[in-house]
Formats: sequence, C-alpha cells, structure tokens
Amino acid sequence: MRKKLVAGNWKMHGSLQNNAALLERVKAGVVDLACEVAVCPPYPYLAQAQSLLAGSAVSWGAQSLSEHPAGAYTAEVSAAMLLDFGCRYVLVGHSERRTLFGETDEVVAAKFAAAQQASLIPVLCVGETLAEREAGLTASVVSRQLSAVLDVRGVAALASAVVAYEPVWAIGTGVTATPGQAQAVHAAIRRQVAALDASVANGLRILYGGSVKPQSAAELFGQADVDGGLIGGAALVADDFLAICRAAN
Ligand code: PEP
Repeated sequence: MRKKLVAGNWKMHGSLQNNAALLERVKAGVVDLACEVAVCPPYPYLAQAQSLLAGSAVSWGAQSLSEHPAGAYTAEVSAAMLLDFGCRYVLVGHSERRTLFGETDEVVAAKFAAAQQASLIPVLCVGETLAEREAGLTASVVSRQLSAVLDVRGVAALASAVVAYEPVWAIGTGVTATPGQAQAVHAAIRRQVAALDASVANGLRILYGGSVKPQSAAELFGQADVDGGLIGGAALVADDFLAICRAAN
C-alpha cells in the first residue's frame, strides 16, 4: 500500500510573516492524518520552514536545485545546501522551469541525479501542454520525459523518488484534469516503470498536480494510480490545503 503524499508548491510567493501563520496552521492541522504532507517554499524561507516544522509531521523541500555540486554558478543552490536546511524533497522539472527557464529533459535528469546523490527525494514533474494533448501526444511526451530520467538513472532510482503528473494546461488555470484523464496517464506511467521493474512500479508514488481544489481532491485521489497531489495555488490558503490533505487521508 502506497502512503499518499500531498506536497505544496508555493512558487514565488510568501513572506516571513505570512509563512509563519500558514506553517503553524498546516502543522496543527495535519497531526492526525495518515497521509504525508510536505511544503516547498522559496529558497530563502527554507530556514524558516526548518525552524517551524522540525519535529512535526510536515516535511519540507525546495522547488528546484542546481545540477552542479558547487562552483561558479551565480544564484544557483546545490543539493548539499538544501540538506543543510533539512529538506526531504525537491521538485525537478516543474513545467515552469522547463518552459520559462529552458530546462531540457537532460538538465532535469541531471538535477534528479544531483538530488539523489545528496539523499534528497526528487519529485519528478512531467506533463503535456494543451497543444500536445490536442495533437494526441500526451502519452509520448510523458513517456519521453520519464525515459530521460530512466535512461540516466535506471529504474532502481525510482524506488527513492516521486513522480508528479502535471498537465501544463491544468497548472494555475483553474482547469483540473478529470479523474479519468489523470488516472489514464498515471496508469501509463506505472506501466512504463513496471515494464522495467514491477516492484519499483508498485511502490512508486505518482502525484497529480494542476488546479487541485478541496472540491476536486477526493475524487482525484480516489483513483487507483493517484497517490496524492502536488498543489500550487491552494497550498497558499491553509483551509484549502488542509482540506486537500484530508481528502488524501
Ligand atoms: C503547481 O504549480 O505545481 C500546481 C499544480 O499549481 P496549481 O495547483 O496552482 O495548478
């Protein structure tokens, strides 16, 4: 049985004051939940997350990392630095990183590797654009994005990773994939992994992300291959995030 995970991606939002209130609410709201809960604030707030969440049921992580261990890479943040701040998870390949910051499949695979080499758990984000879906390319795009990591890291690496299916057309748009659409892609991801290693596939947590709201969460998370969610906008509102976490419970 896979333990469900709900992770909040705060994107470039937050302030010391607002975060403190949000983190305290989330911390208090998840104590009795069986699912795992994590938050991914912007880098500068990881120290705050560490100090407020240490010893609680809430994990924290970062939204990206450098593929390099150290060096002349101005403004980049290494995996070791994230470990210094107690991170457990790190997102890799979020569609905003791919689209706005030019991260290729190869760069994403290198970031995934850097995370695992530092014992961070990468959350590999994959997903198709609207144009790709309409052209019937969803399965091939998602499979290509997953293969880029499998080719470099091998299937065993997925035993200590999470995959998040995030259709680009659903992120921040208010348009959520239907439970059937999500389940179909999640099942295809699991089949691709199972073809290489059935046991890794069976244990792999595959999250759905894209405009998840309290009203849509329970049905999405009730699908056989949906093991929780990666939550953007709703993760910034304590009541909404907690309602989504309860839906995963
Ligand atoms: C995200 O940014 O990963 C995301 C899923 O955002 P939203 O929930 O706002 O669509």
